[in-house]
Amino acid sequence: MLHFDNTYARLPERFYARVGATPVDAPRVVRLNRPLAELLGADVERLASPAGADVLGGNAVPEGAEPMALAYAGHQFGHFVPQLGDGRAILLGEVVGRDGRRRDVQLKGAGRTPFSRGGDGRAALGPVLREYVVGEAMAALGVPTTRALAAVTTGERVFRDEPLPGAVLTRVAASHLRVGTFQFFAARGDTEAVRILATYALARHYPDSVGSGNDALALLERVIGAQADLVARWLGVGFVHGVMNTDNTAISGETIDYGPCAFLDEYDPAKTFSSIDHGGRYAFSNQPRIALWNLSRLAEALLPVISTVGDEAVRGATGRLGRFQARFEEAYLRVMRAKLGLAQEQPDDPALVEGLLARLAAHEVDYTLFFRRLCAAAADPSLDAGLAALFPREPEALRSWIEAWRRRLDFEGDPPEARAAAMRRANPAFIPRNHRIEEAIEAAVRRGDFQPFETLVEVLERPYVDQPDRAYLAEPPAPERRVYQTFCGT
Ligand code: AMP
Ligand code: MG
Repeated sequence: MLHFDNTYARLPERFYARVGATPVDAPRVVRLNRPLAELLGADVERLASPAGADVLGGNAVPEGAEPMALAYAGHQFGHFVPQLGDGRAILLGEVVGRDGRRRDVQLKGAGRTPFSRGGDGRAALGPVLREYVVGEAMAALGVPTTRALAAVTTGERVFRDEPLPGAVLTRVAASHLRVGTFQFFAARGDTEAVRILATYALARHYPDSVGSGNDALALLERVIGAQADLVARWLGVGFVHGVMNTDNTAISGETIDYGPCAFLDEYDPAKTFSSIDHGGRYAFSNQPRIALWNLSRLAEALLPVISTVGDEAVRGATGRLGRFQARFEEAYLRVMRAKLGLAQEQPDDPALVEGLLARLAAHEVDYTLFFRRLCAAAADPSLDAGLAALFPREPEALRSWIEAWRRRLDFEGDPPEARAAAMRRANPAFIPRNHRIEEAIEAAVRRGDFQPFETLVEVLERPYVDQPDRAYLAEPPAPERRVYQTFCGT
């Protein structure tokens, strides 16, 4: 069904616990991601059959799988927890896809493991659908992310504040290595394990950096670069992760663990969605700072492997961490220039970006809608009215900025139509808006109606393409339908 080729299972036994999924009553595939299944070289028709439901629900172990729960630790909201681990996820194994890339295939919500602590090992349907929609939308938006291969209902209830339908998500990831995986061993003083893991992670994710003579330092440098680029892309699409704990920070540079995440509607740099993020630790504009904080925890874990000579390790790690900010700013500016239709680089570009964002924030303008309308205005100044309309309290608020932007566009060579087309590839029409996700989840969970979920997933496969018959999904929520909080995805 899937052609496994496992490498993590060859690592020492203390890296994981060999444990299978706990069978469920009645697995039913409510969505199979066929293009992704094909990319993985899977037997798609078998995956879609009842035998597939058994595998994706955890009732049957596919040939070649070596089920296990991975060990990891992590800083959660700044507090170190020495043992977390996969409490409800089972790694089936790794598959090398048609594109030559190796990926983990994992069942999330597959039952208890030795890392479950007090938890039931299960997932509710709502959070599974949320992770499916948002992860797949991120992929289509071009943001590095784990993917969703399938969503399966279990025919069982899980108990949260109330009984809810249970589900299992089949998650596909470049790997499930986290900053917290390194912390797990570092906290135990197991330097040998940190060394093995660093060498493994470098070879798996950054093979072109193998051979520098210092795997740990090379890995740190590459993860810093990948995370800087990732967060820049998040800011470009208005994404708030919500729980950027070190156990939710992937070594591969993919977005991982979609819990109380959300996309901005109106632009607000201080926005948080997580019901438990009281201090705004994981607020929209705080994400670069927190990424660096998390990377500093990775650096600490790697120190004894980087060097044991004098202060060499600290100097090496500090030097690498010191480059994060510049790397992030460069990546961010690249993202924002593309959004503004700027192919050239000019010294005043950061000020132009800042000037715009300050206005969007002051007037609570919808982030996605603004930039999409800007694409049209780039080709046809008569469409500026559509932008001004987003500032109903003070339609003149944007005028000086628009004038500066147009002067800046004069530096650009390409014809306006080509510029607008390029901007439409950088500014989505569709993002997974919170109120629509909630609506889709509500229909599926309360009424067993998966149509709104299906429609949302389908539209978000092509986020940069206008889809006039689905225009309602591009619209911001009416004020009374704004979602202010999302809850931890357990
Ligand atoms: P998360 O918030 O999903 O990133 O999970 C944080 C930690 O809690 C991880 O170690 C999870 O495996 C664990 N966890 C979350 N939900 C459950 C659950 N229902 N049962 C067991 N462990 C869980
Ligand atoms: Mg997690």
